[in-house]
Amino acid sequence: MSVSVTFLGTGGSIPSKFRNLPSVLLRRGPELFLFDCGEGTQKQFLQAKAGTNRKMRIFISHMHGDHVFGLPGLLHSLSFMGRTTELEIVGPKGIRDLVTGVNRVVKLYSRFPILIKEARSGRVVDEAEYEVRAAPAEHGMPCLAYAFIEKPRPGRFDPSKAKRLGIPEGPLWKKLQTSQSIRVGRRRVASRLVIGPPRPGVKVTYAVDTRPCRAVVSLAARSDLLIHDSCFEESASAKAKDYGHSTASEAAQVAKRSRSKKLALFHISAMYEDPTPLLTQAKKVFPAAFLSTDMATVRVGQ
Ligand SMILES: [Zn+2]
Ligand SMILES: [Zn+2]
Repeated sequence: MSVSVTFLGTGGSIPSKFRNLPSVLLRRGPELFLFDCGEGTQKQFLQAKAGTNRKMRIFISHMHGDHVFGLPGLLHSLSFMGRTTELEIVGPKGIRDLVTGVNRVVKLYSRFPILIKEARSGRVVDEAEYEVRAAPAEHGMPCLAYAFIEKPRPGRFDPSKAKRLGIPEGPLWKKLQTSQSIRVGRRRVASRLVIGPPRPGVKVTYAVDTRPCRAVVSLAARSDLLIHDSCFEESASAKAKDYGHSTASEAAQVAKRSRSKKLALFHISAMYEDPTPLLTQAKKVFPAAFLSTDMATVRVGQ
C-alpha cells in the first residue's frame, strides 16, 4: 500500500507569510494519520483533499498552542462536513482536558465518536499491518515523538516459479500467496518456494519541538523519512538550547545517528524568510536533507 506525507504546516510558534503552523498528514492507502494540528490545519486539510470520513487518527506531540489550536476547528468542521466515523486522538496528558473542555464550553457538535488516548511512550497503536510508537522528546514539558512503522510486508509471489512447479493458476495460487502450503497430487509445495523474502515496511518518524536526544535517535532508527525540529540555524544554537528546540545541523546529526534515509527540516522559525542557510548547514552533515514546504507531498518507500 502506498504511503505519502503531505506537509500541511511547516512553521513553528507563529505562522509566517509562507508557513502555517505544524501539521503533517500521512496517508497509507485509504487511512489518514495527522501529526499535530496547529491553527489553520483544517483549511490545509481540505486543500489536501484528505477526505472527511476515512479511518483517521490524530497524534499530538505536546500541549503548546502552536501544535493544538487547530484541533477544535478541525473537529468542528469534520462534523459539519458529515463525518460519522470514529476518530482517535493520541497525545500526552492534557489532551483529554483540552477536547472535553472545548466541547463543554463551545460545543463541537460532533456527530462521530472521539476516542482519546493519553500516552507516555511505547506502542500507542498496534494494527495487523502497522504500529505507531511514541518516545519522550526533550522540550521542557511532556512532549512525544512518534514513529509510524509498517510491519514487514510478505514477499512477492513469483508466478513463473509456480508455473515451473506445475501448479495450475487459480485457488492454489491464492493459497500460496497467503503463505499456506498446498498439495498438488501427492506433492506438498511450501509457499516459500514461490514467494520471495519479506520486504521491510515503511517507517516515518515525527519529532518536533525537541532538542536532539537519544530517545528520538533510537525511535527514529532506520526511518525512511525523519521529520525533525529544525527551528534555527547554527548561529542561534544557544537560543535553540534555551527554548528546547534544535538547529538544522542538530536535526541532521539525529538523521545521521539514526541512519535515516531522508530528513525533512520542519518547524522552521518565522524569522527565516529564506531558510536556505538551514538547508546548507544540514546538508553538510546529512546530504539527504530537504526543506519541508507547506502543501508539498512526498512519497515514502517503494
Ligand atoms: Zn512548536
Ligand atoms: Zn513547543
